[in-house]
Amino acid sequence: MTIAICPGSFDPVTNGHLDIIQRAAVIFDELIIAVGNNPGKKPLFTVEERIELLEKAIAEIQLTNVRVDHFSGLQVEYARANQARVIVKGLRALSDFEYEFQMALTNKKLAPEIETMFMMTATEYSFLSSSLVKEIVYFGGEPVDLVPTVVLDALHKKMGSRGKKDEEKPFINPS
Ligand code: ADP
Repeated sequence: MTIAICPGSFDPVTNGHLDIIQRAAVIFDELIIAVGNNPGKKPLFTVEERIELLEKAIAEIQLTNVRVDHFSGLQVEYARANQARVIVKGLRALSDFEYEFQMALTNKKLAPEIETMFMMTATEYSFLSSSLVKEIVYFGGEPVDLVPTVVLDALHKKMGSRGKKDEEKPFINPS
């Protein structure tokens, strides 16, 4: 039985993440989506909210071998604690590559028995990121087809409803 983890911030989950999750779920017996706190980022959603959104989105696409969890600390330690041999990552543009390359080699050094596997983004989501989605909603746009409906609703609830003037909105840095 091959268990894989798919770590990330998922702040919030997008259709780009779900595409990777769906494709990885076909390959591995069990896939654990591990929500972490990236110390370099100030999240919009709490870990609990991000987990709830992921669980709802995964239930909608009926993936039964996927579960959602959270972790803090090293990805490889979390992988080991869950008997996972693989870390799955999505890869978008060149900008992802340098960071992911460094991460994968560091993880290999720390835990040689764990493999990092990269899945190429789908063309239609190659530009998509959680930050971009937050920015669209912040400026009054609708990221239709980029996030599941539950996420869209949660974004509106968190960032203010459509059509609000800038000065009426609470200040939320979308990045
Ligand atoms: P982090 O904050 O750790 O970068 P993210 O939540 O942004 O976490 O991303 C988690 C994982 O999903 C990363 O491996 C990232 O490359 C991948 N990912 C994010 N967006 C996309 C996308 N549009 N297509 C493919 N992979 C993606």
